[in-house]
Amino acid sequence: MKIALIAHDGKKADMVHFLSGFKNNLQRVDVQLVATGTTGSHIEKAGFEVQKLLSGPIGGDAQIAAMAAQKELDMVVFFRDPLDKHPHEPDVQMLMRICDVHNIPLATNPASAELMFKALTQTL
Ligand code: PGA
Repeated sequence: MKIALIAHDGKKADMVHFLSGFKNNLQRVDVQLVATGTTGSHIEKAGFEVQKLLSGPIGGDAQIAAMAAQKELDMVVFFRDPLDKHPHEPDVQMLMRICDVHNIPLATNPASAELMFKALTQTL
């Protein structure tokens, strides 16, 4: 099971808070985490093992989209900040489109991610 994690700057604290709430559950099930660069650094500091890719604005979202297209991901959690502008918005749209093309579960806010994580940790 491989989960990709991305958070825009205004949502990185939310991502760490969200993941910390599932720390025990994630240790119980065999989950590999992969993240865009800066999100990954935050997650690492919170005590998680995570594969870090490029930072989002320089191609990290595109790398995650490529993994999704190659069926290497089981879930994508992308906490977007809808109140800010992002230079890499085309990459963001591309990643979400690729998730839809390949029917990969995509959570874009903590409420939906929580439902998906609960389902995941109950069924594994
Ligand atoms: P970052 O990228 O984790 O490197 O900040 C996230 C994004 O904005 O796509």
